[in-house]
Amino acid sequence: MLPKRNKMKSVRARPLEAEAVHGIGARKDAETQLAQMQGKYRGLLEALRASEAKFRRIIESAPDAMVISDLNGRILLINAETERLFGYSREELVGQAVELLIPERFRGTHPGHRDRYAANPRTRSMGEGLQLFGLRKDNTEFPVEISLSPIETPEGTLISSAIRDITARKEAQEALRHREALERRALELKRSNDDLQQFAYIAAHDLQEPLRMVASYTQLLAKRYKGRLDSDADEFIAYAVDGAHRMQRLIGDLLAYCRVGTTGNDFRETSSEAALEQALLNLQSAIQESGGAVTHDPLPVVIADSIQLVQLFQNLVGNAIKYRSAESPRVHVSAGKNGAMEWIFSIRDNGLGIDPQYFEKIFGMFQRLHGRDEFSGTGIGLTVCKKIAERHGGRMWVESEPGKGSTFYFALPERG
Ligand code: ADP
Repeated sequence: MLPKRNKMKSVRARPLEAEAVHGIGARKDAETQLAQMQGKYRGLLEALRASEAKFRRIIESAPDAMVISDLNGRILLINAETERLFGYSREELVGQAVELLIPERFRGTHPGHRDRYAANPRTRSMGEGLQLFGLRKDNTEFPVEISLSPIETPEGTLISSAIRDITARKEAQEALRHREALERRALELKRSNDDLQQFAYIAAHDLQEPLRMVASYTQLLAKRYKGRLDSDADEFIAYAVDGAHRMQRLIGDLLAYCRVGTTGNDFRETSSEAALEQALLNLQSAIQESGGAVTHDPLPVVIADSIQLVQLFQNLVGNAIKYRSAESPRVHVSAGKNGAMEWIFSIRDNGLGIDPQYFEKIFGMFQRLHGRDEFSGTGIGLTVCKKIAERHGGRMWVESEPGKGSTFYFALPERG
């Protein structure tokens, strides 16, 4: 028993001490626990603060305007891009309804859309297929694209809207549409031009044969019956012969015009000086008859269809000789490069000159400033020249002063 009593005694004897010891221990435990909990809580709080700061930083540095709102559409948080895009300061926006940022005509329906989104919040773009607009503080509108995502927080679901200004993209799309429409029209125009050219070519070609018959038989009539019928008949037959010849020239020129586009040769390195020499050779008798002189500077090698280049020089120098004034014709051909990587050729004469009001007109088909009785011609020569220049990627124009002479220019791209 003793031991038991002893034990009891000791048990009974210990409580005060033990309790004291135990109390201290427990408090210490509790304190440590508390300290640990406080540490943990502090850590959690810091982590929370850090993650909130991180969240704000992410929102802040987003390339889009970010607007965080509650399910009632009240703005809670915005970033710098929102301030920049909409022209409001943070203070002006936080606490306001998101409808402030949309044009008035959409405001009526917006809360309904918002409620539907709140009922089924998920990440998606707003108003798919619709054209959305933002409204700046200065009341101007701009096209936008908006992505919505729900953010779950202990206080409930928030809505994050990423708003992107798509003005530049819209403008680029518009420019592309415009360019495509232009290209389509150019293609249609080219097609109808090609058709027309084809038609003109066939018609002119097929007309040649019966015309040759008319020309040769009227000529035969003139030869055989001149002076055998009355004077009226001689006159009428002469008109018929002249008419047939004129029509032959017209058809020949028309065919030459059609051939520029259809039967041209490839572009090769071509000496423009050699082309001019060839043209002068072809014009030799006309130049000699006129008592004129054609001079030229050294001329460059260009990328061209050599036959068409000869034709170009021949028409221009031929005109310079044909449309001469009372002075004997002086024609000078030269070429120089301009900044835009082109060779500019000029054919200068001292002839009749052209009134500036006709500078454009003379390049049109059948356009003539002189009557047939003054100068022969069909009014197609310059049209052919212009078409040749354009086929080479170049252009043509004229400068002139009536009574002083004219300078015809054509530009050819240096690289063909
Ligand atoms: P054509 O010589 O057959 O009439 P073109 O197309 O070559 O046809 O010329 C059109 C018109 O331009 C001519 O009728 C003439 O009135 C005018 N023209 C052309 N070249 C010259 C020039 N060098 N000087 C003055 N007028 C010119």
